[in-house]
Amino acid sequence: MAYDVVIVGGGPAGLSAALALGRARKRVLLCDAGTRRNAAAEHLNNFVTRDGTPPGEFRAIGRQQLAAYPSVEARDVRVEAIAGARGAFQITLPTGAVEARRVLLCTGMIDEPLAVEGFRELWGRSIVQCPYCHGWELRDRRWGYLARGAESLHFPIMLRGWTRDVVVFTGGAFDVPADVRAHLSAAGIQLETRPVARLVAREDRLESVALSDGATIPCEVLFAHPPQRQVDLVRELGVGLDGDGYVQIDPVRRETSVPGVYAAGDLLTRMQTAIVAAASGAQAAGMLNHELTAELVTGGWSGGRA
Ligand SMILES: Cc1cc2nc3c(=O)[nH]c(=O)nc-3n(C[C@H](O)[C@H](O)[C@H](O)COP(=O)(O)OP(=O)(O)OC[C@H]3O[C@@H](n4cnc5c(N)ncnc54)[C@H](O)[C@@H]3O)c2cc1C
Repeated sequence: MAYDVVIVGGGPAGLSAALALGRARKRVLLCDAGTRRNAAAEHLNNFVTRDGTPPGEFRAIGRQQLAAYPSVEARDVRVEAIAGARGAFQITLPTGAVEARRVLLCTGMIDEPLAVEGFRELWGRSIVQCPYCHGWELRDRRWGYLARGAESLHFPIMLRGWTRDVVVFTGGAFDVPADVRAHLSAAGIQLETRPVARLVAREDRLESVALSDGATIPCEVLFAHPPQRQVDLVRELGVGLDGDGYVQIDPVRRETSVPGVYAAGDLLTRMQTAIVAAASGAQAAGMLNHELTAELVTGGWSGGRA
């Protein structure tokens, strides 16, 4: 028998969608490949009731809670391919194919490490993306920001709320307009435009940033927004992306440009935190349930919403 929905990805977005759909008595298969964006992080913060929870534990609790809903099945598998059309998708798993009426993509994003020596090793511990996630724990230390363009230089201004000590590294890759320099200076932020040579760590913790001319700038925490890309499965499906590479959806119905394929979580936006992803999963599930129920009981009429 076909599933109502196959959810691809078992992070906060996929777990939240599976919970809502299970509670709505829909037949759901949640598939998760296991690798996750925040794998290197020790704690998941800023998620009400789960502040400070190790990310693996967060997912384990999500899975435990799904076990209460008999129409939800969760498998640790990678979805290899998706074929078919709205109402009749074939989803290829390593063990064979399953069928589903709808597909919900919750595959997150892939971060591409910056080409700075030491970046890959320190990512997720001394190098983080979001001050709401890690700023409190790292407050009052010496912070740096690896800027990738002048348009991002509003970000370090905000970092001043957590620490007085902020230095911006441009690596000499772009010009900083005079008015922006003035704002950074007024905020007490040091601007470092010399090329970065490498990140210097001791016992897996960042200590300083070495510049190409031999100078060393003490720094304990770096913020960075490395480029991101969609997973191959999403690229192969050919869903419409916006100019920054995020999946475009109908803002109400949460459907992508491919009929019957929905999306939720980090893959939609650079505004990436677990609680936003979870909310997005719940929203998509709500719309899917509305549409699937209407299909069953009225042959498709749902008041113009689906
Ligand atoms: C270092 C770091 C630390 C962070 N810390 C925090 C924090 O403290 N608090 C916070 O709120 N947010 C934090 N975030 C952000 C948070 O991790 C994300 O916003 C959140 O995980 C996004 O949820 P998601 O469900 O959209 O995607 P993800 O959590 O990335 O989950 C996507 C899942 O899809 C699976 N997948 C991909 N392709 C396939 C496939 N073909 N088949 C099956 N499964 C597939 C992946 O294996 C993965 O498990 C952090 C991010 C990073 C990078």
